[in-house]
Amino acid sequence: DRVFVLGMARSGYEAARLLVSRGYDVLVNDGKEEQNPEHVDELRELGVELHLGVHPDDLLDETFSMVVKNPGISNNHKYVEKANELDIPVINEMELAYRYFPRDVRIIGITGTNGKTTTTTITYEIFKAAMDRVFLAGNIGYPVCSIVDQLEPDDIVVMEVSDHQLSNVSEFKTDVAVLTNLFEAHIDFHGSYERYIAMKKRIFNFHTKSDVAILNKDNSDVMELTRDIGSMKKYFSSRSQADCCIHKGAIWYDGEKVIALEDIRIKGSHNYENTMAAIMVAKEFGIDNKTISRVMKNFNGVEHRLEFSGTVDGVDYYNDSKATNIKSTQIALASFNKPTVLLLGGMDRGHSFEELRDYLSNVRLIISYGETRFRIDEFADSCDIECIVTDTLEEAVLAAYETAERGSVVLLSPACASWDQFADFEERGNLFKDCVKKLL
Ligand code: ADP
Repeated sequence: DRVFVLGMARSGYEAARLLVSRGYDVLVNDGKEEQNPEHVDELRELGVELHLGVHPDDLLDETFSMVVKNPGISNNHKYVEKANELDIPVINEMELAYRYFPRDVRIIGITGTNGKTTTTTITYEIFKAAMDRVFLAGNIGYPVCSIVDQLEPDDIVVMEVSDHQLSNVSEFKTDVAVLTNLFEAHIDFHGSYERYIAMKKRIFNFHTKSDVAILNKDNSDVMELTRDIGSMKKYFSSRSQADCCIHKGAIWYDGEKVIALEDIRIKGSHNYENTMAAIMVAKEFGIDNKTISRVMKNFNGVEHRLEFSGTVDGVDYYNDSKATNIKSTQIALASFNKPTVLLLGGMDRGHSFEELRDYLSNVRLIISYGETRFRIDEFADSCDIECIVTDTLEEAVLAAYETAERGSVVLLSPACASWDQFADFEERGNLFKDCVKKLL
């Protein structure tokens, strides 16, 4: 049997390896010529036929029994259309892996517009603290095919599942599925919001009352979309009574207090929602409150997303380097109710900072750096907030250290891309964390 793997990257590479090990003849095609050279060599040695940098019209024909598509490739790609004409099934890496999972592996699938990575990471951390046989996979950087050969019956797999991955599944089924929220997004890929949310719904495919759906009661689109799913539905809410909810400054599950909000290191109501969803998954597997609260007391957040970076002289430092636009910085600012020193700056796209104005009530001082530093100074001035202008992020952290008062927060949430001074937002966030470490 021949299989056509469309799109290489990590997931195509892992899919090809799995297919070879199961006896298939494999062809890998990618429009991009540059690929990881070690992976290319390894696949060649395994006998995989590689066609990189080209998409010849006749490469896909009826001799193939399946196409495994990279989730990022559109369903309008000419090979996908041709496969449809030839009646060749098109699946993706996640679906392929699923078909080779041992029986009785339990799958936790986490999807939604926002909060997937955070919720998946928290869930995995809690499970890891409670048991040995748990795996992390999916959209979070570990292709599902890469764990197939390590799995044993009764293992648990925690998976971040994107709408792109759900767009080419057929048999894939979760045991516990989380839908964090739904907002207008990814319309370019799916064509419309309706199609986008229809993809998300597939996380509940084949669910019966013995499968669990964990849902955001506060999100009306989630409530509407899941009205007729077959799952046992359970809800979390940060505003009202629900199976898991916030009450008297703590998270409660099923009428029992699980953890006080002040004991959770990651901040913001969005992160409390992510935490509630993860707690509910843990509860499905009988994990106790002590384990959950131990993990949450030490969990600093996903790297560069409002990540707790340390406390120096009674001041908490948070790294939100991933915030490369105004919207993300708004979310970060809404997450604290303490006096805040805000570090803003980076590449100048000519964008306005005006939409931060309503979020600055706790901000006592702005420190600007990078290309946008003078424009930020003008903006701060117009908001009647003091601004210190510096050249580099190192200087900005130092200025924050010298001025921040005990009990306040220093927040790097730059609202700009990093490319004026850094290779990417990761490099920027790492430098921030290094600077904080030096202050300790
Ligand atoms: P995803 O994996 O879905 O992109 P992440 O967990 O990586 O989500 O979070 C990315 C950004 O989305 C965060 O920095 C924050 O600004 C926002 N976010 C995270 N969780 C939520 C949530 N539950 N509701 C709304 N926005 C959120």
